[in-house]
Amino acid sequence: MNTSFNLFRLQTQDTLRMKMNARLKEIDRIIAADKEINQAKAILEEAEGINKSAESIVKGLMEQVKEKKMKRELTQANLFSGKVRNPKELQDLQAETQALGRTIAKLEDEQLQAMMALEETTESLDAAKTDLQQILDRKASQNSLLIGEKHKIESEIPRVDSQRQALIEQLDKETFMIYRTLLKSKAGRAVAEVKDDTCGACGVTVPPKDIQAAKSPNVIAYCKNCGRILYKP
Ligand SMILES: [Zn+2]
Repeated sequence: MNTSFNLFRLQTQDTLRMKMNARLKEIDRIIAADKEINQAKAILEEAEGINKSAESIVKGLMEQVKEKKMKRELTQANLFSGKVRNPKELQDLQAETQALGRTIAKLEDEQLQAMMALEETTESLDAAKTDLQQILDRKASQNSLLIGEKHKIESEIPRVDSQRQALIEQLDKETFMIYRTLLKSKAGRAVAEVKDDTCGACGVTVPPKDIQAAKSPNVIAYCKNCGRILYKP
């Protein structure tokens, strides 16, 4: 039994397991983050508000025009009824008809402007609705891919864990404790492979004596620089 080799294999499985955990966390975070959706919803809400007030302006002007037209009809009916004969009164009715006509023309101008403005706000509203829907659709397909990936990772966990367990069982308790402690203190990497006579983790040259020790089945050699367990294939 080669202790360093078993430690190296355990390290490989632990690294894999840590990567899986990190990815699972990231997937959960991505799925939960709906900043983009909230932003699109806020834009839609604002566009709805603007469109609503544009609609009420148009509606208000239409009512005013209708009211002034009815008033003008009444005035004209009165004017041509033949009941009013007083020239001063007739003149007043005529003047009122004309004044109403000017008011109506002015209101109709305003109404036209308001309708054009409404057209623009309706376009903005439709664009905001489309944007939100597109984001929701994209998120749904993104999320389904992510959920698929999550399930795949979760299904691989038992296999990795049983491999880790099998390797741990081959180590004596003391060695495993040393490994665990280094794993925690050395950012998840307790074992470094010696490559081209250097430590695979910190890059410092490993003396031949230590390389020899790293090869030996029952000795644990450490990098003099970073303190990690050395493994030499
Ligand atoms: Zn090192």
